[in-house]
Amino acid sequence: MKNENRLSPDIINKTLEKMKLGNKLYFFEEVTSTFDAAQNTDVSPGTVVCARVQTGGRGRLGRKWCSSEGGIYFSLILKPAKDAGEIQVITAMCALAVQRTLSKYISCFIKWPNDIVSQNGKKLCGILSKAKISGDEVMYINAGIGINANISDFDSSLPHASSLKLLTGSEVNENEILCEVLREIDICIKMTPSEVMKSFEKVCITIGSQIKLEYHCGGKSIEGKCTGIEPDGSLIIQTDDAEALRVNSGEVSVRGIYDYV
Ligand code: ADP
Repeated sequence: MKNENRLSPDIINKTLEKMKLGNKLYFFEEVTSTFDAAQNTDVSPGTVVCARVQTGGRGRLGRKWCSSEGGIYFSLILKPAKDAGEIQVITAMCALAVQRTLSKYISCFIKWPNDIVSQNGKKLCGILSKAKISGDEVMYINAGIGINANISDFDSSLPHASSLKLLTGSEVNENEILCEVLREIDICIKMTPSEVMKSFEKVCITIGSQIKLEYHCGGKSIEGKCTGIEPDGSLIIQTDDAEALRVNSGEVSVRGIYDYV
């Protein structure tokens, strides 16, 4: 990989000099996960913890997130405004910011709730956010983002994964992408929850698709057509034999888009 395209703390720091997000950057060659590193290092708002490689990157439900060299792995600490809504809206906001950034390189969409997929259904990014709550108050949100930027190959166990480099045929500049995502988050964070969700809906591939919802508890699954998204980020699904159901991202995983299993 060309050196100028690799993540570099100096370049990131220089670019983010005047921004609140990324005002404190912790950069690691390798970490277990940036999510844990952020938790253990500094949870003040605006902190970014970034690494070139994660040895224990995670998706939802403790699923493994392949985090080899060539990806962009970072966690961002956010302190949402009181009216910013639930964690679902924050995850949606991060997904929107990444989709806006990656769409400057390739046509891509959001697969509800937390993935960015290419036109042919390849997964390019995953997002995992968790809130630290004390009483009624959200102390902070740790948003972990993994972007498949310059990864050259994936394990055969990940047939639905791809990278910007593999799909566009050329290397991308990882510093530019990271800084652009942070800039986009800085814009989206000023939007109201309903503005975030309206913009999210426009680029969400799940809406209008026939899908299968797999419940995380109890092993139940249901099939139906996704008809929209609620202002709080919940998914609306219409089955053949019932009224429309509403599910939140903590409850289910979506299957069925592009045969994604
Ligand atoms: P899901 O999409 O299955 O609901 P997550 O969003 O938590 O779950 O993502 C974890 C899943 O993503 C893993 O189980 C694996 O199938 C897939 N995966 C792991 N690493 C990568 C990667 N770098 N790029 C794309 N997909 C990946």
